[in-house]
Amino acid sequence: MNPVIYMDNNATTRVADEVVEEMLPYLTEKYGNPSSMHSFGGQVGKKIAEARQRVSSLLGCHPEEILFTSCGTESDNTAIKGTLASFPNKRKVVTTRVEHPAVLTTCRDLERHGYSISEIGVNRAGRLDLDELGFRLDDNTAIVSIMWANNETGTIFPIDQIAEIVKGRGIVFHTDAVQAVGKIPMNLRENNIDLLSLSGHKLHAPKGVGVLYVRKGTRLSTFMHGGHQEGGKRGGTENVPGIIALGKACELAKKHLEEENTRVKALRDRLQEKILAGCPDCMINGDTQDRLPNTLNVSFEYIEGEAILLMLNKFGICASSGSACTSGALEPSHVLRAMGVPFTAAHGSIRFSLSRYNTQEEVDFVADKLPGVVNRLRELSPFVTT
Ligand code: PLP
Repeated sequence: MNPVIYMDNNATTRVADEVVEEMLPYLTEKYGNPSSMHSFGGQVGKKIAEARQRVSSLLGCHPEEILFTSCGTESDNTAIKGTLASFPNKRKVVTTRVEHPAVLTTCRDLERHGYSISEIGVNRAGRLDLDELGFRLDDNTAIVSIMWANNETGTIFPIDQIAEIVKGRGIVFHTDAVQAVGKIPMNLRENNIDLLSLSGHKLHAPKGVGVLYVRKGTRLSTFMHGGHQEGGKRGGTENVPGIIALGKACELAKKHLEEENTRVKALRDRLQEKILAGCPDCMINGDTQDRLPNTLNVSFEYIEGEAILLMLNKFGICASSGSACTSGALEPSHVLRAMGVPFTAAHGSIRFSLSRYNTQEEVDFVADKLPGVVNRLRELSPFVTT
């Protein structure tokens, strides 16, 4: 069996060794409850405070603005539903057509419950029309939820500018930054973001832990009622090992931010160049000017992404395709469709997402194998007539 070449880091990441080391004692000998009165539990509370501080240091905010949750999806739900509940007279949410299902499905459910949802489109490069955003905002709008970076294409939205437009109209602004945190620098003290979601398993912490950043003074109804944990804003005994792990992962992400934007970016660019040179009839999806340093979304015309993935899998290469299985049929990604990517190209899209654990040898191996895979599939494709 081939060794695994993991290029699917936007789906999930390997937990960093340092993170495992940091969290392990809190699964074994230091298992106290941080709410307990005794010092055995108290030491855990102190470690959670340290994790909160580490997360806030990566985001550039105050530790009291960090609310630990179970995942990015919970953070997105809490932001949107918690805001709507605290502005009962406002019934509209503005978002985009390219959000992750954690936001889009939440909005569609709200629509069924009588809320009005306004989704802004994107152009062929995946960019938003900021004028359109301005037109969509009105007195009925409770919240605007726009992702910082797209999980499929890596396209980065001009979030500072967007936040300014939204706050200028006195509306709450939430950003799903699940893919952006740890990959691009951020300083929440210097922008107008009210609420921000992140997820541990996207930045080398384990699954099952996330954060909702809540700017001081932001109105947000409690979504999860229970005990007094998280300042009464989210009941439920804390996922102690997960929170401690996330704190360490954020500390490491801060340390590796430059590497992410130099070495990892160079690896991604090398892969892109080699693919474009080695495979005819392929194109890059997304905004190549403003893009996450680790993400590469390529469409190979006339063949299906799933077939490419299966063949890459034989070489131990892990990536993702843009399609989703809906009612038994493969549907091209809603993101690529919103961008107007032609059907034949959208079907053949593959996302490679790198991390600091990838090497140049791995990139060269993938770039070496891909032309053979693509040619073989095209020979079998009914769409290729030559
Ligand atoms: N938002 C974005 C942009 C994502 O990419 C993901 C996961 O892929 C999520 C939200 C959901 O995060 P989680 O898996 O932690 O629920």
